[in-house]
Amino acid sequence: MQDQYGREIDYVRISITDRCNLRCTYCMPEEGIEHYTSHTDILSYEEILRLVRCLASLGIKKIKLTGGEPLVRLGCADLVRELKAIDGIEQVTITTNGVLLEELAEDLISAGIDGINVSLDTVERDIFAKITRRDYFDKVMAGIEKVKSLQFKNLKINCVPIAQFNKNELVKLAAQAKDYPLAVRFIELMPIGLAQEYTAVSREEIMDMLTEDFGEMMPYEGTLGNGPAEYYSLPGFKGHIGFIGAIHNKFCGHCNRIRLTSSGFLKLCLNQNKGGDLAPILRSDASDEELTEAMRQLIYQKPLAHHFYEEDQNDTDSRQMFQVGG
Ligand code: SAM
Ligand code: SF4
Repeated sequence: MQDQYGREIDYVRISITDRCNLRCTYCMPEEGIEHYTSHTDILSYEEILRLVRCLASLGIKKIKLTGGEPLVRLGCADLVRELKAIDGIEQVTITTNGVLLEELAEDLISAGIDGINVSLDTVERDIFAKITRRDYFDKVMAGIEKVKSLQFKNLKINCVPIAQFNKNELVKLAAQAKDYPLAVRFIELMPIGLAQEYTAVSREEIMDMLTEDFGEMMPYEGTLGNGPAEYYSLPGFKGHIGFIGAIHNKFCGHCNRIRLTSSGFLKLCLNQNKGGDLAPILRSDASDEELTEAMRQLIYQKPLAHHFYEEDQNDTDSRQMFQVGG
């Protein structure tokens, strides 16, 4: 369906849990999280499937499962299989920190997952432990290797370049795309919650580093994802390098997405609290038609643009990144 500004909304990011087995410094506090969604408030898989059937009737075609860490929720691969079976859903992908991927990659792939994005900010074990506050680097790398060994085609590695942590890691991360046809994508740090304490590394700086080591970066015109990444080819690389810059390359004019939190809040823009809580409707005796109509009205009101750094921030969302899922 189209929103009030004529944008085609066909993509939903669904956070299936706000729990996580890492504690990335820019995303989650070390301890003291008192606001996990309780087991009674979290949407059940049946509720998620019902919402997605209604969303599909409104024209949603693509789903990204996210978290917290989606793979910590039991039965995630079964959910993928059931989502894939819904009429109108063309693509189900996942973003994961990779810790449980070695165990679950086969299940996900046999359930029909269309894309796996692994978040990885460094290829050095010590730096990984510093960023994530957990010593799971080997598990993440084993997860990536497992996916590669299964010859899975749509593998992406997402890195958030941060001056304080991984500026010297970016060339090594990009090198992951040399011998395997995967995409390494650099995602601009957004000033949400804890991330406000850190400094993003600019795209220009990253491109200069990559060009110096690997040669000229040529814009890649093909399609590799659902959204706003801009891709480049490098000489001799089987894969590609992508950049997503929500702040400096604002793409709100083409935004095609909505988000669903694990407690059922339909969120219309990443840094605003606009949207509506679907749980009371889901848990009333409302029909599917009424639920669909409630979502249609919400989606129609999707705001024109995010307003990071703007003065009028009355509607900035207090949810942290681990509660929204990126
Ligand atoms: N746990 C999963 C993972 O790490 O992929 C899914 C949720 S995580 C919030 C999704 C993505 O958001 C990760 O790639 C993470 O690095 C990124 N992220 C977290 N905080 C961010 C921020 N402030 N700006 C940009 N990306 C951020
Ligand atoms: Fe967990 Fe992902 Fe946030 Fe890291 S970025 S703390 S893995 S939700």
